[in-house]
Amino acid sequence: ILELSQRVQAIKPSPTLAVTARAAKLKAEGKDIIGLGAGEPDFDTPQHIKDAAIDAINRGFTKYTAVSGTPSLKQAIITKFKRDNGLEYTAKQVLVSCGGKQSFFNLVQAVINSGDEVIIPAPYWVSYPDIVILADGKPVIIEAGIEQKFKITPQQLQTAITPKTKLVVLNSPSNPSGAVYTIDELTALGDILRSHPHVLIATDDMYEHIRLSDEPFVNILNACPDLYPRTMVLNGVSKAYAMTGWRIGYAAGPENIITAMENVQSQSTSNPTSISQVAAEAALNGDQSCITPMLEAFKERHLFVVEALNSIPGVNCLPSGGAFYAFPDVRKAIEKLHARNAIPEKTDVALGEYLLEHAGVAVVPGSAFGSEGYIRLSFATSMENLKAALERLHKTLD
Ligand code: PLP
Repeated sequence: ILELSQRVQAIKPSPTLAVTARAAKLKAEGKDIIGLGAGEPDFDTPQHIKDAAIDAINRGFTKYTAVSGTPSLKQAIITKFKRDNGLEYTAKQVLVSCGGKQSFFNLVQAVINSGDEVIIPAPYWVSYPDIVILADGKPVIIEAGIEQKFKITPQQLQTAITPKTKLVVLNSPSNPSGAVYTIDELTALGDILRSHPHVLIATDDMYEHIRLSDEPFVNILNACPDLYPRTMVLNGVSKAYAMTGWRIGYAAGPENIITAMENVQSQSTSNPTSISQVAAEAALNGDQSCITPMLEAFKERHLFVVEALNSIPGVNCLPSGGAFYAFPDVRKAIEKLHARNAIPEKTDVALGEYLLEHAGVAVVPGSAFGSEGYIRLSFATSMENLKAALERLHKTLD
């Protein structure tokens, strides 16, 4: 009777949160650890957003709201989609959830039957496959390494699609690789998807605003507007406005799927926190220049980190187009350490352990994201920390 469900035994806790926890534990034991595992901005939530939430508490806006979100937040989301993405939605096509993670969870619960296939390009955000497995679906991974700039090709997509494919997940800018698809690349993927009308598309635009180059943001619907009837756009306020703890994400797409997702949510969390919804509304409707200083810091750190990584023997790092991660290829460094008997196996996990122990730097192994032979370093931490961490990595891997 104490046995757990097969469903839950098939999944693992988020490895990125696990690394952060392990680094925190070592720190608490007095070890000098620099954590580069975090997947959240190191900045504080902008003041006008906090003020809106404090005001919401003071005026007693502390009760249940509509499950799908307050009408005024949904309106702010509709306005945002029009303003930033040129996309039109009605209120019935929008669902506000407790973070982008719940948006994806609701979507998968709403559309996946047992054995349905979900195409996920690797490296991927750690939660996609496990959320699919929890719904009894089958993750189908397309590997896209550094050789192809971490982006899947139209041929790979074509080969991966079967009659059982239900959903394809696109994430650009990508966590963890920082890769950004160009409009031409998205058009080419859209050309393949167009000839498979049974496939639904999810574009996870969570890092829309964290762009490190001057290219404008584009998603699959900007490239292929005709795919609108079968595309779900996922986004949220967590990364753009340093609001990870507030737990607000949102989805927009076909009304029948949004309604089904709302039903899933109504039987799990109900509405997202009323106070956080007011804060998210202030974020989306307020002055967008609050993003600028954070973005400038990410850009400066990105330049430093990529250059410093590439100066380490056995490490090869592409510049990121977006998000706040570097995802270097460390296969040569792993080979070298293994040849020296410094690590017991030729794996990125062994390298990660070694770096934690000998450099005092916490990174996340690429295998957590479905790509063995890489590590993810977050630059959502101070320049001071980054300088110290990169110096230690250089020394340890030299
Ligand atoms: N999508 C991607 C690609 C992410 O990296 C994250 C967070 O790490 C999320 C979605 C979910 O964000 P949250 O649930 O914190 O809003």
